[in-house]
Amino acid sequence: MIVSSFAPPSAPARSSAPRPLAQPQANPACGPNDEICLSCAPSAAPNWKQLAVSTSAQAAAASAGPAGVALEQPLRMLLIGPPGSGKGTQAKIVDRFFDVPHISTGQILRQEIQQQTELGKAAEPYVKAGQLVPDSIMLPMVDNRLEKEDSFILDGFPRSIAQAQHLDQTLSRQNKPLTCVATLDVNDEIVVKRLLERGREDDTEEIIRARLKVYHDQAEPVMAHYQQQQLLEHIPAEGKVPEVGFNLVTRLNQRLDEN
Ligand code: ADP
Repeated sequence: MIVSSFAPPSAPARSSAPRPLAQPQANPACGPNDEICLSCAPSAAPNWKQLAVSTSAQAAAASAGPAGVALEQPLRMLLIGPPGSGKGTQAKIVDRFFDVPHISTGQILRQEIQQQTELGKAAEPYVKAGQLVPDSIMLPMVDNRLEKEDSFILDGFPRSIAQAQHLDQTLSRQNKPLTCVATLDVNDEIVVKRLLERGREDDTEEIIRARLKVYHDQAEPVMAHYQQQQLLEHIPAEGKVPEVGFNLVTRLNQRLDEN
């Protein structure tokens, strides 16, 4: 992996050489359904260690276990999943494991709005209303962000066939073929239960079901688009965080090995 290209302005600078492997940190707040702590991962998914040892891309990291590996080739993935499917948590695992930055369009927009940039002001009414921000704003924003990265986990984009086609063109122009499009598969009833347990004021059952309908309407054509390109990987995401993470990282490794 070309780590030196990682220098997003708003993110901490990444090192120019393959970074020293992170040591597993004992995290007292870590729980199987809570924030990820990779030192706990092997007990929840015992094959983590074996995974780190067995993959060809990670030979250098073999002795270090599942807390950070140096990739020899770029990893470019899209992460698709309903609200409550654990995209942010899983993106953190992939970042931690492969040192690949997580780009979330929702997060970028919220930051731009908070800073009241021109882009933020233009996007604000749409985000507040829960509507899609127009492509005239989204497409240049995503293009600019991707320009800075060789490897990435892109979350929240594309949300339509038009956005997917645009992304295909951008990545082809930048000569950055995708490694994989991963979907986190969680049954709607489990999503509703998880989000109700989170107990946020805007998480009423009615609103959650409406957001799920919007998600299915948007995501299914996008998934079909990438299925045609044989990039789609369905990851079962109803289990515990490290188990889901283990499956995701394993599938990514297989894709990398095939490239
Ligand atoms: P979610 O709550 O579904 O996880 P995100 O955090 O991904 O939503 O995005 C928050 C908001 O940002 C969306 O409701 C939408 O207004 C806007 N947004 C994010 N990504 C896109 C996109 N690809 N196209 C248009 N609007 C987007």
